[in-house]
Amino acid sequence: MPKRTPFVGGNWKMNLDGARSRALAEATAAHAAAHRGAEVCVFPPFVYIPGVAAARGASLVGGQDCSAEKEGAFTGQVSAAMLVDAGCSQVLIGHSERRHGLGETDAVLSKKLSRALEAGLCPVVCVGETLAEREAGRAHDVIRTQLRGTLGGHALDAARLVIAYEPVWAIGTGRTASADDAAEAHRTVRQTLADLYDVRFAESVRVIYGGSVNAKNAAELFAREEIDGGLVGGASLVAADFATIVAAAARRVQ
Ligand code: PEP
Repeated sequence: MPKRTPFVGGNWKMNLDGARSRALAEATAAHAAAHRGAEVCVFPPFVYIPGVAAARGASLVGGQDCSAEKEGAFTGQVSAAMLVDAGCSQVLIGHSERRHGLGETDAVLSKKLSRALEAGLCPVVCVGETLAEREAGRAHDVIRTQLRGTLGGHALDAARLVIAYEPVWAIGTGRTASADDAAEAHRTVRQTLADLYDVRFAESVRVIYGGSVNAKNAAELFAREEIDGGLVGGASLVAADFATIVAAAARRVQ
């Protein structure tokens, strides 16, 4: 099986200000430097990206979203090329707060993925079911449909792709998927990648879990072979908690 470098993303969402984002970037960079076995990336609000990029040290910087368009009359949008220009190497595509909060479809997200790849960004593609879909027994179908709709038809480099499995009911709720449920969903992600590409591709892609990951539950989740790290919202805003999560991910390669 190919060796996968753990990946931990800190999604800061619409939080912090300039000074606090730079301070958090510096603290996070120090933890990333201490745990080089894991790749650590922070996703600040757009306007703070240049300041964070200057303070990033050993951590990567990504955008929380990019436009589906290349350039032009798209008021309020930020292009993938602009993210690169501002210092980003990664971008979130299809976070649930955009899929469900803003109604972004797989077709739109597929276009965003095209723009990200053209610009040379590494995409972190998010998928996951709602509570109603899980309760209806449709969680795995939803994961397969979102992956096919967003990734299908794209030429992808497995080493530059991360898939984040984020059940919508676990994001920002304090309710975490059990390690068993998360691992099972990750196997569905890998099987779908194997169907779309091939087994070697599927085994090389990092598949990470997101949904109320915190300093207490990270070690149990990341101990599972299927879970290559985490996408972390609330706990990424607390430097000490995020450090514990990064350390838990880095232990996968020790
Ligand atoms: C997220 O923003 O992707 C996320 C998982 O948030 P939280 O960790 O707060 O649930």
